[in-house]
Amino acid sequence: MIDVLVVGAGPNGLMLAAELALAGIRPVVCDRLVEPTTENRANGLVGQVVRMLDRRGLHQRLTGDAAPPRPAPAFVFGALPLDLTGVTDNPLHGLPVPQRQIERVLAERAAELGVPVRRGCEVTGLRQRADAVEVEFADRTTLTCRYLVGADGGRSTVRKLAGIGFPGVTTDRSVSRTAQVRVPAAAIDPATGGLAAPGYGIVPPFRHTRTERGLVVWAPFPDRPPLLSTTEWPQRPEPDAPMTLAEMRASVARVLGAEVPLDPPAGAGPHVLRRVVGGNTRLAERYRDGRVLLLGDAAHVHSAIGGPGLNLGLQDAVNLGWKLAATLHGRAPDGLLDTYEAERRPAARRVTMSTQAQSALIAPGSEVTALRELVGELLARPGNAAHVAALMAGADVRYDPGPDGPPVGTWAPDLVVHGDDGPVRLAALTRSGRPLLLDGTGTLAAACAPWHDRVDVVDGRLTGTSSTALLLRPDCYLAWASAEAAPDRTGLRAALTRWFGRPRDLAAEPA
Ligand SMILES: Cc1cc2nc3c(=O)[nH]c(=O)nc-3n(C[C@H](O)[C@H](O)[C@H](O)COP(=O)(O)OP(=O)(O)OC[C@H]3O[C@@H](n4cnc5c(N)ncnc54)[C@H](O)[C@@H]3O)c2cc1C
Repeated sequence: MIDVLVVGAGPNGLMLAAELALAGIRPVVCDRLVEPTTENRANGLVGQVVRMLDRRGLHQRLTGDAAPPRPAPAFVFGALPLDLTGVTDNPLHGLPVPQRQIERVLAERAAELGVPVRRGCEVTGLRQRADAVEVEFADRTTLTCRYLVGADGGRSTVRKLAGIGFPGVTTDRSVSRTAQVRVPAAAIDPATGGLAAPGYGIVPPFRHTRTERGLVVWAPFPDRPPLLSTTEWPQRPEPDAPMTLAEMRASVARVLGAEVPLDPPAGAGPHVLRRVVGGNTRLAERYRDGRVLLLGDAAHVHSAIGGPGLNLGLQDAVNLGWKLAATLHGRAPDGLLDTYEAERRPAARRVTMSTQAQSALIAPGSEVTALRELVGELLARPGNAAHVAALMAGADVRYDPGPDGPPVGTWAPDLVVHGDDGPVRLAALTRSGRPLLLDGTGTLAAACAPWHDRVDVVDGRLTGTSSTALLLRPDCYLAWASAEAAPDRTGLRAALTRWFGRPRDLAAEPA
């Protein structure tokens, strides 16, 4: 029997599969597509996930650069500028890498870890038993697995088959158009790289430009054709014909009140040319039904504004992987698997709040213009900018700290461990995805010894934190912390048991 069938070889399914493999589980991934999709959705990653990928050794594979992630000096919230230069410990990181490349890197990594990806396999049915899930495919073949994870996107078949509701709202008011384009050199402002629109002025690069008629984004990426997007709120329904470049030109002209010469990009495609009418903001009622779990877009959909989708979904995967693995290994403490929903559903709720708030701020109308003026004034204050940066980064996510209180339940800072071999950044110690005790006191190894089969211990003075010792879960959230020179070992043992189960000789039977 297969341990875990992950339905969907999108970014989140592949990330989960790799996390499971790191934790010693052999998952199988299936996808109904015969080949990876050529559709390019995300233009990059935004938020804490950039540092999380660094902590799995994937940042360098995506950037080709060994330098650690650097925070963004500026970003946008609801098409309003967000100046982050005055924000202490700015948590907002960005990685402008197209989704296709992210999926390619994640697929390579899953393959390196021995994860089989079965393509052309569409899940059409499932039946839960007490000890397993029976899965049926479109070709009538079947398979049995101990757990099934639906990472099959916003229209998730798994979610529907499991009978999990997907409440929320669908709007049909906005129309977004996106195209990769070529513009003559004369239409580029040499000083800023902005788009020169005679009669309007300069559309600055990589920022949202709002007029009373809509929104324009001009993104002249260095390594691919420039991307131009508009959002409008038309009075009449749009025709249902395929999107064209002429339609894009007309949309830009309406929003800016000025013509911009647009041509198809040079080079081999496929090139982005799409129209999206309306959108959904929905959150699964539950992330788990028995042995079926939901992950990524299958559990939550929302506007792409601010680019939060993969920050949320990939961290869902990192949260679920070790918990599901511990359950399958038979050493999960009671209720561990249910903390997946308890921790990640509120994180998704924050994202839907943020994207809906931003969608309201980009809408047309003089009342919205007034609201934007006020919100713009508020964002200019560093304290407020820090609050919004943490929201967009998902860095304000706090899990239940339990009896110890904070910083337990927060994400481990980018600290440095000064051991016998010199300074090592945390991101170099977390690649295996194993729980980690960082002991800056040299007093805790014996207390942790009974968990040696599942928890690594690293000694060394800690800088970049006020703690002297920290216990990290595989997703880098703190399970325990001490600021004492001689930490309380009873509290450490309680945290080890709470998150990683009783030591081997007392472990429960496998699930
Ligand atoms: C226009 C647009 C722009 C975006 N921009 C950004 C951005 O800048 N930053 C960001 O972080 N996010 C962005 N997102 C969101 C991001 O693309 C999604 O959050 C992400 O693709 C979700 O990944 P996933 O793995 O959960 O699902 P998906 O990527 O949808 O993958 C699901 C997979 O499941 C497979 N599947 C479906 N049904 C079945 C079945 N029955 N059996 C087997 N396989 C099945 C599908 O073939 C697919 O491969 C954007 C989205 C859109 C639409």
